[in-house]
Amino acid sequence: MPDTALLHRPDAAQQTEHFDVLIVGAGISGVGAAYHLTTQCPEKSYVVLETEETFGGTWWTHKYPGIRSDSDLHTFGYRFKPWIGAPIATADEIRKYMGDVITENDLGRHIRYQHRINHAAWDSQTKLWTLEATNKVTGQALRFTCSFLYMCQGYYRHRQGYMPQWPNMEAFQGRIVHSEEWPEDLDYSGKRVIVIGSGATAATIIPAMAGKAAHVTMLQRSPTFFRTGRNAIELAEELRTLGVAEEWVHEITRRKILFEQDKFTRRTFAEPEKVKGELLGAVRNYLGPDYDIATHFTPSYRPWRQRLAFIPDGDLFQGIAQGKASVVTDEIERFTDKGILTKSGQELEADIIVAATGFHLNVLGDIAFEIDGKPLAFHDTVTYRGMMFTGIPNMAWVFGYFRASWTLRADLVGDFVCRLLKHMDATGKKQVEVALREEDHNMPILPWIDPENFNPGYLMRGMHLLPKRGDKPEWQHNQDYWAEKDEFPAIQLTDAAFKYA
Ligand SMILES: Cc1cc2nc3c(=O)[nH]c(=O)nc-3n(C[C@H](O)[C@H](O)[C@H](O)COP(=O)(O)OP(=O)(O)OC[C@H]3O[C@@H](n4cnc5c(N)ncnc54)[C@H](O)[C@@H]3O)c2cc1C
Repeated sequence: MPDTALLHRPDAAQQTEHFDVLIVGAGISGVGAAYHLTTQCPEKSYVVLETEETFGGTWWTHKYPGIRSDSDLHTFGYRFKPWIGAPIATADEIRKYMGDVITENDLGRHIRYQHRINHAAWDSQTKLWTLEATNKVTGQALRFTCSFLYMCQGYYRHRQGYMPQWPNMEAFQGRIVHSEEWPEDLDYSGKRVIVIGSGATAATIIPAMAGKAAHVTMLQRSPTFFRTGRNAIELAEELRTLGVAEEWVHEITRRKILFEQDKFTRRTFAEPEKVKGELLGAVRNYLGPDYDIATHFTPSYRPWRQRLAFIPDGDLFQGIAQGKASVVTDEIERFTDKGILTKSGQELEADIIVAATGFHLNVLGDIAFEIDGKPLAFHDTVTYRGMMFTGIPNMAWVFGYFRASWTLRADLVGDFVCRLLKHMDATGKKQVEVALREEDHNMPILPWIDPENFNPGYLMRGMHLLPKRGDKPEWQHNQDYWAEKDEFPAIQLTDAAFKYA
């Protein structure tokens, strides 16, 4: 829910600023959106409002040890800006890259930090959005209007992780921290640490803490698949040795990675057992023949049903092989004063317990939306290709890929938005909305994503908040970059799904 303490509406006398486009958020999507508007729609005025004190989004708000990407930066980086470092990058490296994009394209003058948007209202009479925001430095209530709202707010609540409530947590005498709310003063040197979780975050934190902590125990309810390999792309290295320009290295490496990922994704559906064998074989190479891989690293789901994190140089497994970290696969019965008692009766002792237990899904940036005076029921809308929604005029939303880098889709949506805005200008239209066509009326209306296809916890917990999908490519976010890279540029803006006014 929106933070009501921040809902100070400006009085009517207060000045309202107008922009053609208003971008919510200065994460990798919002900065990309600003770049696309600047380069493809230079005649449009726009502003980016960001609640944090700087850009970066995910890569600014997460502060846990070792924070890094789990997908490669050739595809997580923008199409238009070569990535020059190792493919798996730290948060600082990603922010440096984003900072360069902002500086090189003079985007900074469009971004206003410490501006929290609380309320957004669409008015069909004026064909404008009105946004109420708070300047977090001065406390001043601000009002903006815009013709088009470009939602780049991400998909989870920043600075408040999902913390399950286990019995007797208050009894623990040590410190409990969530990976999304990392305390800057946390000194873990020489301490016994339990990390609860099995996803990419746990797999990053554990090797990062392992050298300094006395010991790190990964406590997981069920295992996750990981991919491992060298943190380098041989092709990129070779092209650089040949003196190929970085723009070319970036493009060729992207194509190679995407080609390989496509092949791999198809194999996870066509021959899941074989892929599973390969993934587990790679883990076995680090942990040796006697390690209990069946219990600790063999998930019950097929590969790619949850995000597959890349472990550079197998550092998680190296930590385990060296005895600095260990894995317990069990459920939590309750906390004790010394640590955690598992359901199988084992007491794990710790000085610090880290919950790497995921997010709260947050679909609209905790902004209260109204359409012509009525509160928006986002979950009742149907999505057009995961970026527009029935009944919501003049708005696009960036929701990236799970099985490919998020930014690939942010770039595709950027091209689409610019094309749509130009089309509206060329045809003199001020409003666009998507609506089911006659041929869509008997289409089954389904939840946002099929859990058989992809089912991480935060999505399953938050599915009721998300819009619906149909069973045609137009009416769903199909998670398939390889199809959408050709389909998006071919979208007919005159299709009956688009209603203009
Ligand atoms: C630890 C971690 C690692 C990840 N690694 C990868 C990876 O390797 N590859 C990958 O593809 N994906 C990864 N993801 C997913 C990742 O979140 C996205 O890929 C990407 O960074 C999202 O960018 P974004 O700009 O869309 O959203 P965010 O990074 O969430 O940024 C959204 C911004 O909008 C601002 N905002 C939100 N609401 C408001 C409001 N009401 N008013 C003003 N501002 C607002 C926020 O403050 C934030 O700065 C990772 C996620 C996490 C948490």
